[in-house]
Amino acid sequence: MSSHLAETLRAAVFAARAHAGQTRKGAAAEPYVNHVLEVAEILAAHGAPQAAILAGLLHDTVEDTPITPAELTLAFGAEVAGLVAEATDDKDLPKETRKALQVSQAAKKSDAAKQLKLADKISNLRAIMHSPPRNWDHARRCEYIGWAGRVAAGLKGVNPGLDQLFDATYRDAVAHLAQHD
Ligand code: ZN
Repeated sequence: MSSHLAETLRAAVFAARAHAGQTRKGAAAEPYVNHVLEVAEILAAHGAPQAAILAGLLHDTVEDTPITPAELTLAFGAEVAGLVAEATDDKDLPKETRKALQVSQAAKKSDAAKQLKLADKISNLRAIMHSPPRNWDHARRCEYIGWAGRVAAGLKGVNPGLDQLFDATYRDAVAHLAQHD
């Protein structure tokens, strides 16, 4: 157990350093690492496998920092690096294509990657409620929530507790948006 804890904290430090200086898009401008810590906490609280928790901490490093898949493999092994790869969009593609691919590819992901991506969407829906990006109007927030729901439809069915948390968060987000404009 203690080796899991040490490994988890090593991944947290790695992610904090990789994302140093980056902030979330939301009005609160939280340090970016808060998001990946939240994703990992959601996974740990719902009994996700250790590799998914580690990948939860590291999932945005390849997409948003200079860290390479090879560096992740060296530091955390092929399984964790593979999960991060499954959760990473191809930034060479246009944004709308990437969003469509997330919907169409969701059901084809591994079980661990599905849990990771579902926890990521839960964290992002919470952020849309509590600290939306300043330049996102009501329509854009609605559109995001609907899209997250379409991605999640392909991710569910692996971890019932996580599925329930997504559904509750989704309902909260829709209700929140109906009350605020
Ligand atoms: Zn994320």
